Amino acid sequence: MTTTTIPQADLTTNLLIDGEWVEAAETFDDLNPADGSLLARVAAGSAADVDRAVRAARAALDGAWGATPGVARGALLNKLADLVERDAAIIARLEALDIGKPVAQPGMLDIPNTVATFRHFAGWADKIQGATIPTAGYLGMAATHSYTVREPVGVIGAIIPWNTPLMIAAWKLGPALAAGNTLVVKPAEDAPLSILHLGTLIEEAGFPAGTVNIVPGLGPVAGQALVEHADVDKISFTGSPEIGRHIQKTAADTFKRVTLELGGKSPQIVLEDANVEAAINGIAMGLFFNQGEVCAAGTRILVHRSLYETVVEALGQAADAQVLGDPFDEATTLGALVSAKQQERVLGYIEKGKAEGARLVAGGTSPDQPGFFVRPTIFADVDNSSTIAREEIFGPVGAVIPFDTVEEAIQIANDTRYGLAATIWTQDVSLAHTVAAKVRAGAVWVNGWAAIDPALPWGGMKASGIGRELGWSGILANTEEKVVTIVL
Ligand code: ADP
Repeated sequence: MTTTTIPQADLTTNLLIDGEWVEAAETFDDLNPADGSLLARVAAGSAADVDRAVRAARAALDGAWGATPGVARGALLNKLADLVERDAAIIARLEALDIGKPVAQPGMLDIPNTVATFRHFAGWADKIQGATIPTAGYLGMAATHSYTVREPVGVIGAIIPWNTPLMIAAWKLGPALAAGNTLVVKPAEDAPLSILHLGTLIEEAGFPAGTVNIVPGLGPVAGQALVEHADVDKISFTGSPEIGRHIQKTAADTFKRVTLELGGKSPQIVLEDANVEAAINGIAMGLFFNQGEVCAAGTRILVHRSLYETVVEALGQAADAQVLGDPFDEATTLGALVSAKQQERVLGYIEKGKAEGARLVAGGTSPDQPGFFVRPTIFADVDNSSTIAREEIFGPVGAVIPFDTVEEAIQIANDTRYGLAATIWTQDVSLAHTVAAKVRAGAVWVNGWAAIDPALPWGGMKASGIGRELGWSGILANTEEKVVTIVL
């Protein structure tokens, strides 16, 4: 069905280790979600490949990259941003083919955000400063002079999911490189191609060999080897809570630092005085953008009872108005889910929703055509204790829940194991601040969904993760603080 293929020249499928593109002993099949066809056979990195990549990253840290001053690191990040901009059309095509998303979407979010992330962190690279700290002196015998420095954490293993791979890779690469770290990046098996293309741009920009190594491969093989490796100082992971928990436990054996970003079940709270039209547009975007395969997808829609039927009906219409189909057709607003496994998983949740008594307002099935499509789906009258309100579905499925008071809305919003993001729809400024203060989430948006920016910290509370990426928080997460005290 897909009307575009990848020109061979744009396709990179090998491992990037120490500045060289090398083959792996084995490959895995990377499929086109829109029709199930084979896109590429991609190198499946082994534990030995990961080990070589980690050695290269360590050598770069001890060598050329470690000796590169902040100003020069910033210049390289700016160059990389320029190259991503130059190759925007190639990257958009790779992401649409690999993930099944409409080809216009990477140009709206993933690519501009990636460029902005590299530029933002280019700016930090020469501004990472310590402090001088006065003390009472040394045992009453001598005065002291103490200062802190922020040093790179070291070799960082970055494990990337398949939903917005380029952008999430940039969220890990930008701050890590600005702070002087080296990396081994493990893209997801379902969508490695845009990150591999980014590897060619990293080489073209002129980063020293070994600064960024890319080892695609299977999670339990290449990912696991990276997490276990004794010479990796930190794992930065974005993915499911189950794998995140496993990674944190495994990383504990070698005292690695971890940053985990693990998804959510984010509420969209429509208060009584909300601008309903704006809310409906924002909620539809929060449900259907990227086929709902978004960690911050606003999948629990909590609506004041006075607006409830209006919102349910409008969301049903918004779902029915989505154009499901070929990611390369300009009319398409909703592409395919990334894999047959993901399609089955989402359909399984839809069946659970029906079985548990929710009212199906729109969607609920897959169209009868090749590819891993699921119709945009809205359930109303959802009980917050039911499966579709508790578990992250990672597909275009919304659960609408009524409430009567602001207190009840906050209670339902917080009644979840997750805490990544929340949106509040209201025109009352003081209510916006009051509710924002009470919602347990790493990011709270008022009158908008996914107002993200590389300058703002990103990460979750509770099962949504540990630590923050981006902004100054991203620099903190990628540095170790050292204090130097001189007894005078
Ligand atoms: P999703 O459910 O969105 O596919 P996963 O958490 O399964 O998310 O995968 C996210 C990333 O984690 C992928 O790059 C995957 O290969 C990797 N991964 C999976 N299992 C492991 C593991 N045991 N150790 C390290 N990385 C893993």
